[in-house]
Amino acid sequence: MIEVSKLSKSFNDLEVLKDINFQMRSKEIVVLIGPSGSGKSTLLRCLNGLEEPDRGTIQIGDVKWDATLQASAKKQAIRDMRLLTGMVFQSFNLFPHMTVMENITMGPMLVKNQSEKQAIELAESLLAKVGLLEKKHEYPSRLSGGQQQRVAIARSLAMKPQVMLFDEPTSALDPELTGEVLTVMKQLAEEGMTMIVVTHEMKFAREVANRVIFMSDGIIQEENTPDVFFAQPQTERARKFLRQID
Ligand code: ADP
Ligand code: MG
Repeated sequence: MIEVSKLSKSFNDLEVLKDINFQMRSKEIVVLIGPSGSGKSTLLRCLNGLEEPDRGTIQIGDVKWDATLQASAKKQAIRDMRLLTGMVFQSFNLFPHMTVMENITMGPMLVKNQSEKQAIELAESLLAKVGLLEKKHEYPSRLSGGQQQRVAIARSLAMKPQVMLFDEPTSALDPELTGEVLTVMKQLAEEGMTMIVVTHEMKFAREVANRVIFMSDGIIQEENTPDVFFAQPQTERARKFLRQID
């Protein structure tokens, strides 16, 4: 489903991603962890077409972005990648002047030319799934952080992505609201969604991930099943990181 090879990205003099290689099967759940500043968000943003890598290739489904493509072909690949991937951010990013329903129906109507009726039906089924159907006419500011994040997940799913990318989706939430968001993500995983999740929730990683990828300094330092990774981290960096978050 995803194949990233020799991906590099710098901001000015700072090389944030250094020759990243990894592959993912359909329906796989990868948890991406590592210290702050190690390049996790930049990697997700490259997959979602929000950042343009300097070198390397990204293949998602049938779409291939390659640094050596012509500018117009790159642009098209980025548009396609954005449609294939749904992204959920730490900060929810709902449109504050739109109701929950408007937030969710906007993308399908504007980008996928769905009728309002179709878009509303889809939004209602997704809101039911995240347990927020009764909030459909509320504005985001009237919802808790956990509810806003569940709406953000529903909004992302409304675009029918093939891969969901979560960038610390619970980091901005009070601890008592974290569980409701993780429950929705777990359900999504059980339904067979392909997911990459950047998170500090190690219990979620242990329970839900098929694989843990540990990044630091712009490099994938190790990857393993959660069982092996948490019991026997191979590198000193990973051991140090796990001691710090314990
Ligand atoms: P992580 O998500 O693992 O904390 P990031 O990918 O956000 O790491 O950032 C990696 C490094 O890249 C950090 O040093 C960060 O300051 C830098 N960085 C990220 N985005 C930008 C940007 N748009 N411009 C300049 N530097 C950036
Ligand atoms: Mg980050």
